[in-house]
Amino acid sequence: MAQGHMIPMVDLARLLAAAGVQVTFITTPVNTARIRPIIDRIERSALPIHFVDLRFPTAEAGLPDGCENIDLIPSRNLFKPFIEALPLLRPQLELYLSAAPPDCIIFDSMNSWAAAAAKDLEIPHLIFHGPSCFYMLCSLLLEKSQILKSIAGDFDPFLIPGLPEPVEVMKAQVTRASDAPGWEKIKERFLAAQESAHGIVINTFEELELSVLEKYKKETGKKLSSNVWSIGPLSISNADVDSLSTRGEASSTDAQWVINWLDSKAPDSVMFVCFGSLVLNPLSQLIEIGRGLEHALSSLSSLSFIWVVKEAAKSEEVEKWLSEFEKKMSVRGMIIRGWAPQVIVLTHVAVGGFMTHCGWNSVLEAVAAGVVMVTWPRYVGDQFINEKLVVDVLKVGVSVGAKVPASLVKEMSGEAQVKGEDVGKAVVRVMDGEREGEERRTRARELGEKARKAMKEGGSSFENLKEIIQFARQTKIVME
Ligand code: UDP
Repeated sequence: MAQGHMIPMVDLARLLAAAGVQVTFITTPVNTARIRPIIDRIERSALPIHFVDLRFPTAEAGLPDGCENIDLIPSRNLFKPFIEALPLLRPQLELYLSAAPPDCIIFDSMNSWAAAAAKDLEIPHLIFHGPSCFYMLCSLLLEKSQILKSIAGDFDPFLIPGLPEPVEVMKAQVTRASDAPGWEKIKERFLAAQESAHGIVINTFEELELSVLEKYKKETGKKLSSNVWSIGPLSISNADVDSLSTRGEASSTDAQWVINWLDSKAPDSVMFVCFGSLVLNPLSQLIEIGRGLEHALSSLSSLSFIWVVKEAAKSEEVEKWLSEFEKKMSVRGMIIRGWAPQVIVLTHVAVGGFMTHCGWNSVLEAVAAGVVMVTWPRYVGDQFINEKLVVDVLKVGVSVGAKVPASLVKEMSGEAQVKGEDVGKAVVRVMDGEREGEERRTRARELGEKARKAMKEGGSSFENLKEIIQFARQTKIVME
């Protein structure tokens, strides 16, 4: 029910099917329509994946028609009704499952309600967690320690208790929507799903998060500790341009045109700027990003950029400013309005940096491509924690300096959250070839190599996927 969840789940379905498993992919009509290009490709390739739609109960939940994905929710007030609508899918799912029970269900953590259905039908079930294991561990430790209750100020820094390395955060960065009053039932359902699940599947890889994965396994308790599987980076499973350019949704720019433009640039000379599927910058912030990029271009003569601006389609004012800016940038800047073929861009040899909001898919895609990051977390949840991982632990990124979630900034003032000077400085630090930058780049490249190895036969993630399949088959026998 969100691009950041749907994309890796489709990748996972393809990997399982390629390993000989018969897969059924269950979603809702609007979401199916959005991934239609990838479904068509899968159907042409004869991979054994069957797509099934459940009718999304928008009317029952008081949501507008077609509001079946987080990026289609028209106002913040409808976020909770949207999350509350998800369990209403249960009767349809149960009907479908009881007709032809599968060996195993893997459900996205947003759909925790599916655990109860699986349990009632005695079907082994695994939770797929989209965020990093680092975030999953921090979240678990915050929950166990209940430390947030003892922190008075939203902006008082504190250390997350129990982590192998000191990680300092602020309450405002890690308090999730589900921590607010009124969300108790939703949170309970999530915790119950974690309790009843037979295993946890995470889009990461051992070589990236080994000590974290080990600690996470310990913290999840005896039952689950041997069934936490890292199976990523899932983006690597897309081998060709065609499958990458339909990933998530069809790219709004011709992928080959983007590749040709990148072919004309020197290695590591292009900064890719993209803030995932949900972030929408106000015009004041877009102007500051533009100023930052201009500043970086004037400091580094070899630098170019690709900037994905989803906001253009939503506002004439933005489009007007953007077309002026685009003209000024000429051959040194490409603007993509809408959906970009992100992994194609990141894996091109000309791309040397990625300005990201630290959504986990984006971070992992950059890691897999061996690309250094400018980190700019926007929302509470995992983004600020992912930034800590990238900048402080893995040391493959430079922070733009955003300390407060964007929603709070908007509430506090109408101004841009980050000034152009800071955007420019971070871009220059990441892209220039000085010693610090070179060391960062070398570390990023090494991680990229390890990521690719993890997904190959004999690699950690490849073997973990095999274990999941074996587990699903054996668990069925036990339950029978
Ligand atoms: N993405 C893309 N093109 C875009 C924007 C996003 O392909 O123009 C993909 C990106 O590659 C990633 C996902 O959308 O796989 C975004 O997930 P992430 O966890 O990074 O952020 P979210 O959108 O969930 O905030």
